[in-house]
Amino acid sequence: MMDYYSGSPSRHSNRRSSIRKSNYSFRRRRRQHNRIPILLLILLLVAVVGCGIFICIRQFQKMKPEKTPGNQSSVTVSGSVNGSSGSPTDPSASDPLDPGQETSSNSAVSSTSLLEQANFIAAGYDYDKAIELLKGASDYDQHPEYLEAVTSYEQAKETLVPYDLNKVTHIFFHTLIMDEDKAFDGDSDERGYNQVMTTADEFLKILQSMYDKGFVLVRLHDIAYETTDETGQTIMKKGEILLPEGKQAFVMSQDDVCYYEYMDGDGFASRIVIGADGKPTCEMKLDDGTISTGSYDLVPLLEDFIQEHPDFSYRGARAVIAFTGYQGILGYRTAASYSDSPTYEEDRQTASAVAQCLRDNGWELASHSWGHRDLGNIEYAHFKTDCDKWENEVESLIGPTDIILFPFGADVGDWHPYSSDNDRFNYLHNLGFRYFCNVDSTQYWVQFGKDYLRQGRRNLDGYRMWKDIEAGDDTSKRKLDDLFKAEDVFSSKRPTPVQWN
Ligand SMILES: [Zn+2]
Repeated sequence: MMDYYSGSPSRHSNRRSSIRKSNYSFRRRRRQHNRIPILLLILLLVAVVGCGIFICIRQFQKMKPEKTPGNQSSVTVSGSVNGSSGSPTDPSASDPLDPGQETSSNSAVSSTSLLEQANFIAAGYDYDKAIELLKGASDYDQHPEYLEAVTSYEQAKETLVPYDLNKVTHIFFHTLIMDEDKAFDGDSDERGYNQVMTTADEFLKILQSMYDKGFVLVRLHDIAYETTDETGQTIMKKGEILLPEGKQAFVMSQDDVCYYEYMDGDGFASRIVIGADGKPTCEMKLDDGTISTGSYDLVPLLEDFIQEHPDFSYRGARAVIAFTGYQGILGYRTAASYSDSPTYEEDRQTASAVAQCLRDNGWELASHSWGHRDLGNIEYAHFKTDCDKWENEVESLIGPTDIILFPFGADVGDWHPYSSDNDRFNYLHNLGFRYFCNVDSTQYWVQFGKDYLRQGRRNLDGYRMWKDIEAGDDTSKRKLDDLFKAEDVFSSKRPTPVQWN
């Protein structure tokens, strides 16, 4: 569209200068005949008429851009429609190269798109935002379908009920296995992958099963949020999650999103990048050495799923993405130990931009400690050093975060509420952490502290799925049936049995 705008005025000025040129040659011919008075008078008359016509043409020429219905006027109109919809990349923008477009058809296309946008937001249970979007349209009154949609959103909103916050389950994954033949190839890393990782195919089957059962992804910040009470004290307050009756809220997280060196060549993505559409996506090295960009891990795969099933995400919620620091984050070698690399500064800048892109698209970022340490049991001095290193090397790149997902699920306290003399909790709290997640295979474990939220997480990996399969009909030992049936998901390419050690 920019090309058209810049090209358009020069085309008009060319036309004007050719008219001026023809008028100049006409005046030159007139001077050659001025020795004959009668002819002169006639010619003067012609010249006056000619000048009049010339001025008229010039005037017409000046007016033409504003008066031609197809070109700039339609662009101006559609531009203002897009402006009011707040969507600069709106695909409904009129095609300026099509002079036959009329204002009414342009706005019809835009209104469909605005309605689609509102429907997508409403599908994610944010009816107020959807209503606000439609009511904010300058031509709201001219679209009966807007009013119809607003009425249906208001009715749907009435049916929402507060979800029991003690029943928010939390599932987590590691980097997804994209190429099972490479991950389960019998080398020394195979055992670990088989235990703690999930394949992309299994992940998609889990999403589908959970979607069919009515699960809806929420944020940790939807469960509780920090605010100030009447006395001015900073507290964590219970949130409110409003869902249709029968839906079940859950949180998702992914640990170790670092694409560690040992995983190279084992069938995983190599890093997260910003895609052409401005959304986070992945790069993966193919067998022929080329690098392919696409949905090669949880972030883009979940995004794709939500685009197709917008009612799977509560008000734009995405998963929590957690990083260690010792080999850098997101597939970029940003740790201080890589500072000799010629691309070190560039990698740090790119990692920082990708982290911001994740935040902009609804993902929450978290600490997983710097050195993947057992924060509950290492010496206190080492605990502090590790926390400080994470602040210096990772938080400096991704910005402040208030979530920590404990490596090995090893918490800094037992199941009782954190006490005020718990030094490790106090240290983490002073660093800004408010959400503390361990690993707990029970269905729900949510603890509301006065200044923190604590939650247990469930590992949906090869080991956990195999335990369910081993349990067979013994439902007391099966832990995943509320989410999916392990037998329907577990990959046939996994070596079995999956043992812990
Ligand atoms: Zn981990």
